[in-house]
This record gives sequence, C-alpha cells and structure tokens, in this order.
Amino acid sequence: MITRRSLFAAPIAAMAATPRLARALEPRLAVASFSILADFLREIGGPVLAVESVVGPEADAHAFQPSPSDAQKLARAHFVVLNGLGFEGWMPRLIRASGFRGTEIVASRGVATIKSKHHGHSHGHSHGHSHGHGEVDPHIWQDPRRAITMVRNIADGLAAADREAAETYRMGAQRYTAELQALDSWVEQQFASIPRARRRVVTSHDAFAYYGARYGIDFLSPQGISTRSDPSAQQIARLVQQIRRERIAAIFIEAGASPRVLEQVAAESGARIGGKLFSDALSAADGPAPTYVALIRHNTRMIVEALAG
Ligand SMILES: [Zn+2]
Repeated sequence: MITRRSLFAAPIAAMAATPRLARALEPRLAVASFSILADFLREIGGPVLAVESVVGPEADAHAFQPSPSDAQKLARAHFVVLNGLGFEGWMPRLIRASGFRGTEIVASRGVATIKSKHHGHSHGHSHGHSHGHGEVDPHIWQDPRRAITMVRNIADGLAAADREAAETYRMGAQRYTAELQALDSWVEQQFASIPRARRRVVTSHDAFAYYGARYGIDFLSPQGISTRSDPSAQQIARLVQQIRRERIAAIFIEAGASPRVLEQVAAESGARIGGKLFSDALSAADGPAPTYVALIRHNTRMIVEALAG
C-alpha cells in the first residue's frame, strides 16, 4: 500500500545521494529591486536561481514603500540586485533593515550615464527622489547596449559569489547578450526609414533619454499638462503650441489624461497620439511587455507607428 510518506521518501533519498540534483531542486533565492532586473536574473540564472522582485510588474519603483514582508524576502535571499544611481532610493535602507547577509550586486556599475534633463516634474509624475539639476538619470536599461553591461555586471557578481554555478551564469549571460545585440540591431532598423528631423515625441515621464540617445530620438516633456487631473483649456492650448513650435510628430501621455483630451490635442496640433510606453516596469504576464525584450520591442513599435505618419 502506498502511504503519503512513501511518496515523498524516494525523492528525498535521491537528493541526499546526488548533491547536484539537490541544488537543481533547491535554487538560490535572488531578489531584484524591480521587475526588469528580475527578468535579467531569470535569463542569466535560469534553473539555478529562484528569482523574486520587490517591486513587481506594472508598479512604480520610484515611489515604492517597502513593507515588512519585503524585508523578510531579503533576509532569506542569497543575492540582491539593484539598479543604483538613486533609482530605488529606499533599497539601501531596506537591505540594512532586513539583516540581509548575501551578495549585493549593483547593475549600473561602470555604465556611462547622462544627466537628468530636469524639465521639471510639473506633469505630476511623482518620483520618490528629487531630481535636482545635474543629477544622474537612472533609467539606463532603456538603452539595450547599456542593458548588456548591466547583464555582465549581474553575471559577474553571481559567478564570483557562487562558483559552483559560475558556468551556468556565464553561459546564460552570453546567450542573453546575443539576444540583446539582435534586439538593438532590430530597433535601429525600425527607425532607419524615419528622417532624423521627424524623430521628436512628447512623453509624460522623463524615462527615455537613454533610448533617445541610442536611436536618435528627442523625447520632450509636455508643457502645461498634468497626468493627475484633466487639464484646463489654457493648459491644452499651451501643449498644442509646444507641439507646433517644436514640430513634434507624436505624443505619449500615460495614465490620467482622458482620451477626449488627447483627441482634442491631436486634432488641434496635428500630432499623433501613441499608445502606452513601458518605462520602469514590465507589464503583467498577459500584457504587451512581460519581458525586457518584449518591452523594448513594444515601445519601438509604438514610437515607429506614431512617427511613420
Ligand atoms: Zn522613472
């Protein structure tokens, strides 16, 4: 007769006999500060890591408030991976408070940065940290070539601390890097037929400067419009003026602004209204950007479509 106990006895015996198998069954916990880094970790660490994220898909890492369960997650982790550059300003304190004793990996190490343009956050996007003049723009992952450096940093950090699985991390990073190089070439091709002078768009979140620098696109912030509430007639007039004056071909405004307002802006300015761009978080699994590669592809399609006029 098969008892409940005997069902479990066999796999446990097998684990004790073969340490490698035991490791495969019990992956090490790696916690990323936000969903995009979690995706990098999954690509690099494949079967030897259990990956979790403090800030999940569709969530804002800038304004995040850690809870006791986040500290408990970190306390159990072997690795923690963060972007740095002040992006997740709450993270160093959370790491200290959690009693985390594993390896901390900063993905932005050695990545060339650009300064925040600091158009002012009059559009109402609430960043958890202040963006003063001359501060570094933390959104480095928006450039796939910088993402490749981030992946290398993460893989190096994992391999140095976990020599047993170093080869897995090295091969994962190598395979994923090739994928990111192909992604970068694909994006370049998408913009090839769009004249440089036409590559001007307005976005409501200053998150795309690295993408813009890589592919020659000017991202401007909307003037006189808030994403928090419906704009007044005067605010709409100011935005329409800006679009005409700066010859902006397309406008992407996230959350808050009503379709009716956007339709009015489009009709009066001649700019196209684009779909939703993903900046600081992946989408849910059934959304258009469940992975980093899907995110860059989605944003690129949206921008190209809006500029192709
Ligand atoms: Zn941001």
